[in-house]
Amino acid sequence: MLNKVLIANRGEIALRILRACKELGIKTVAVHSQVDRELMHVRLADETVCIGPNSATESYLNIPALISAAEVTDSEGIHPGYGFLAENADFAEQVERSGFRFIGPRAETIRLMGNKVSAINSMISAGVPTVPGSDGPITNDDQETLKVARRIGYPVIIKAASGGGGRGMQVVHTEAALLKSIQITQTEAGSVFGDKTVYLEKYLEQPRHVEVQVLADMHGNCIHLGDRDCSMQRRHQKVLEEAPAPNIDQVAREKTLKACVDACKEIGYVGAGTFEFLYQDGAFYFIEMNTRVQVEHPVSEMVTGVDIVREQLRIASGLPLAYTQEEIKVSGHAMECRINAEDPKTFAPNPGKVTHYHAPGGNGVRVDSHLYSGYSVPPFYDSLIGKLITWGDDREIARRRMKNALDELVVEGIKTNQPLHRNLVRDGGFKQVDFTIHYLEKLIKGG
Ligand code: ADP
Repeated sequence: MLNKVLIANRGEIALRILRACKELGIKTVAVHSQVDRELMHVRLADETVCIGPNSATESYLNIPALISAAEVTDSEGIHPGYGFLAENADFAEQVERSGFRFIGPRAETIRLMGNKVSAINSMISAGVPTVPGSDGPITNDDQETLKVARRIGYPVIIKAASGGGGRGMQVVHTEAALLKSIQITQTEAGSVFGDKTVYLEKYLEQPRHVEVQVLADMHGNCIHLGDRDCSMQRRHQKVLEEAPAPNIDQVAREKTLKACVDACKEIGYVGAGTFEFLYQDGAFYFIEMNTRVQVEHPVSEMVTGVDIVREQLRIASGLPLAYTQEEIKVSGHAMECRINAEDPKTFAPNPGKVTHYHAPGGNGVRVDSHLYSGYSVPPFYDSLIGKLITWGDDREIARRRMKNALDELVVEGIKTNQPLHRNLVRDGGFKQVDFTIHYLEKLIKGG
């Protein structure tokens, strides 16, 4: 087992990783920006290193500072969490080259999956169903592009190969608008992601977002932990997630879960990962893979009993997976509400001092949060301040427990999206699983 791990992140996920390390007897190093001295996990870590000023570029994205911190503390492994450098292949490479263990997949896998065109192509060759599309970059041959789009059928979506965070995508409904829109997306992609490459996909109009959690070790073992539904999104950002994805065609599900495991074996995947799909009319369509732990990983943990972060640490230590596929049983249902420090009406970030904090509790309730009374949420980073997770024998019990948990949660001094979640868990369409990825935005608009 790794002896000492540096946690290259902040907030709830840093605390989550710290807890898993402690359970395994791994020593912990918390790195932080100046303002983050007061973070909960910084107080609990064995060692702490201030890696720079408040801006993320100068601290959590500062590769030389992170490597130096690992050197001075004599750390063995570096856990990137999610966001920041978690899917940066150059970082993974530099970590390994400096003699540390990157807790995640190999740099070449991150690179392969970080480019959506190469990710889609490797999924096609591994037999994972993808969205009908150009299956390659758009070229300068306009006639060919028009032909490809006609074959796919309108509406199509133009996507940046290096895109992420819901940016660099454009939907086109008619042939007349296609070439101009491609040009615009290419220019935007070039300036935002430093790569002008775009490709085409069929635009699915009423899909749900369903994703598959996988774990793979260095010995060729790979398992899946079932699926999650993350259709409740605002601006392509997930708001509420649940596991298992409700009302899924069982034959299509089994086939897709198996295809994900086969694909991992094919590409020599190591670590925790997520295959993201759109699900429409009983069929799955791969859109991208995330090569890291995800914000919503707890819902899969609650229904399988597997500690995903512990498995990440074990895998990086060279140990085999602690479970076989046969040992994984999905039991009951879990939900997660992402609590953000933001105005519930305008969604503008609302950082500031938390004057009073009370966490909910009770049977089947889990709170992953770094908040405490007196903590000040800084304005420099993501607005996620915690996650409420509930488990129940079935979806309805999990939902009622979430309703209670949201009623019990008290965060005073700053505004949060608690009211949005309270409405959502009481909503008829949500209760009846009558929703697509567009549902929440319509609900917010009052439609
Ligand atoms: P990013 O890497 O920016 O998150 P994704 O490829 O994961 O981009 O897509 C983000 C979201 O955009 C999806 O969850 C879905 O809501 C929407 N989307 C992406 N591709 C399609 C498509 N082909 N049809 C319809 N919606 C799509």
